[in-house]
Amino acid sequence: MALDVAAMRRNFPIFAHQPPPFHYLDNAATGQICAAAAEALTTFETAGRANVKRGVYRLADRATQAFAEARERMAAYLGATRPEEVILTSGTTFGLNLAAHVLEARVGPGDAILVSRLEHHSNIVPWQMLAERRGARIRALGVTEEGRLDLRDLEAAIDRRTRIVAVTHCSNVTGAVTDLAPLVARARAVGALVVVDGAQRVPHGPLEVASLGCDIYALSGHKMFGATGAGALWIRHDLLETLPPFLGGGEMISRVTIEESRYAPPPHRFEAGTPPIGPVLAMGAAADWLAGLDWQAILAHEKRLTARLIAGLEALPGLRLIGPRDLDDRYGVVAFEVAGVHAHDVCQLLDGFGVCTRGGHHCAQPLMDAFGTVATVRASLAPYNDADDIDALLEGLEQVIRILR
Ligand code: PMP
Repeated sequence: MALDVAAMRRNFPIFAHQPPPFHYLDNAATGQICAAAAEALTTFETAGRANVKRGVYRLADRATQAFAEARERMAAYLGATRPEEVILTSGTTFGLNLAAHVLEARVGPGDAILVSRLEHHSNIVPWQMLAERRGARIRALGVTEEGRLDLRDLEAAIDRRTRIVAVTHCSNVTGAVTDLAPLVARARAVGALVVVDGAQRVPHGPLEVASLGCDIYALSGHKMFGATGAGALWIRHDLLETLPPFLGGGEMISRVTIEESRYAPPPHRFEAGTPPIGPVLAMGAAADWLAGLDWQAILAHEKRLTARLIAGLEALPGLRLIGPRDLDDRYGVVAFEVAGVHAHDVCQLLDGFGVCTRGGHHCAQPLMDAFGTVATVRASLAPYNDADDIDALLEGLEQVIRILR
């Protein structure tokens, strides 16, 4: 069945608040909150608020139960083998920093950490910081002309000194989806761990994280139509058991004396302090809602829109697409340059047509370097977008090009 976009839009309160023309094409930066998540957030904050994990009165007990249920919902959406594998965080950035700290003892002087030129800065900088602390080296996989991860010669890129391989599941600039299987196979062969940045993958349907073969998977709730402020970090259970804590504080211990502390079992060991309860509940509600959608219809819809967008962009003069032109193994994230015009100017003028796009380096400067540029315009799609949004962007661009050139 074709996707009913009008019905889909009714699940997103933003459309009742933003007068037309409103063409939201900045979903890779943040998706709009869905009604189920908004309701979970406001219900908790206004009618059910209490701190979690400690209280014995009913209100606190209900909050604690709802928090545990959010973890279960995330575990189900991700395809985790058990809820304890899911650490609730404030987002992808926090999760990747957590990973870079708890894996510290596994990296020694002269070892290598492999990232890629396709990464968001949040999957580069924490590893650089870890490498510096441990005297290790950073290496990077390159990108193809299409803006995909270059997986040739993995034997050379991942050798016996490689301790960690940290790659994105989907690029936030080119939309390319990484073929993780060969990376995982090679990493396994040399005993390296694989950390995956799933921030751009999770808005596109449930996954089977346990069968991807990776060890750690990071994501943000706000990109999967939850609230801002929450995320999750999945860690394979046998690895999880062996890892030390990250932040110290309340809720992550089993016993504290002045001399020493014993730590709580995972996942609590990694969740010091009061968590972002409302946003976590919203993320769980979003995951639950997303899990019930017809993903075949949604992905077919997004593919059609991506095709329309790419064809339209290719027909415009002086435009350079950064990223694959084909529609397989990619999502609807499309970046481009307008010759001789800065991306910020393009986005500002597009705003005048009610079109929300993002311009800049998209926190991916090594990728910008690889393409010999400093900034691009990016349009990114969600299930509530339709052909009108694409056409508004293309028509706006046509005029912008006429004005600015
Ligand atoms: N990785 C990727 C691929 C992203 O697109 C983003 C967000 N732009 C992040 C990591 C960081 O996510 P957050 O800001 O929610 O921590």
